[in-house]
Amino acid sequence: TDPDAPPHRRMSQILVPADADGVEVVRPIPTMGHTGRGWTTHCEVRYTGVRVPVENVLGEPGDGFRIAQKRLGPGRIHHVMRWLGQMQRAFELMCTRALEREAFGGPLAEKQTVQNWIADSAAEIQACRLMTLDAAHKIDGGDEARVEVSVIKFYAARVLHDVIDRAVQVHGALGLTDGTPLARMYRDARGARIYDGPDEVHRMVVSRRILKAFAAGDGWSFT
Ligand SMILES: Cc1cc2nc3c(=O)[nH]c(=O)nc-3n(C[C@H](O)[C@H](O)[C@H](O)COP(=O)(O)OP(=O)(O)OC[C@H]3O[C@@H](n4cnc5c(N)ncnc54)[C@H](O)[C@@H]3O)c2cc1C
Repeated sequence: TDPDAPPHRRMSQILVPADADGVEVVRPIPTMGHTGRGWTTHCEVRYTGVRVPVENVLGEPGDGFRIAQKRLGPGRIHHVMRWLGQMQRAFELMCTRALEREAFGGPLAEKQTVQNWIADSAAEIQACRLMTLDAAHKIDGGDEARVEVSVIKFYAARVLHDVIDRAVQVHGALGLTDGTPLARMYRDARGARIYDGPDEVHRMVVSRRILKAFAAGDGWSFT
């Protein structure tokens, strides 16, 4: 709303009623093979000559970036909390299938590769749990926990993908069918590395802050 303001003061957030004149939902945008429904639908929206009262601006003009950032920290850790549930579900399906399915003379659970997948998944899920609790603890203490939230955002997104991927592999062809929730979970997990900031941007945030602390002579302590 103000292209001449400093970069972080250029945007405003404006409430626009969905039934305002000139608002048009053009189409749901299909992603990874499904159109979504309800709150999971992402639509293309066209605004043509829409006018709303000035009091529909959230906060002050120029607050848009600040408001978005305020939501994004808690929003990102909330994503990770949901992913932890997905990881656990995939992990349980993987372990159950490994015990049930027999191939080449014995249960999959006795193959060392499958055992490695289970052990690696257990370690990584627990790491995600503890890092999430640590970030939440710091947020509860009044800290924005920018580094902790960014670390868990990109790290947990990868673990989510990897655990579901291993669970799909243990299920063989069954894992690709819609006979288990894994195929849907796998498709949804891909977005985790992109929405609310792609992995690369979170890594950039983390390394910038750490290097800034080093440059100031403070080093970095893992508390
Ligand atoms: C399922 C889903 C739901 C979403 N929901 C919402 C929502 O509710 N509200 C909302 O506002 N947005 C939403 N988004 C948008 C999302 O936040 C953006 O897609 C995301 O921030 C990446 O922006 P972009 O797509 O413009 O990618 P770009 O900015 O074009 O980046 C493309 C790629 O370039 C690379 N890249 C970008 N910057 C850097 C960098 N600094 N260093 C190195 N590499 C870089 C990354 O690999 C990145 O994936 C959603 C996206 C998805 C997929």
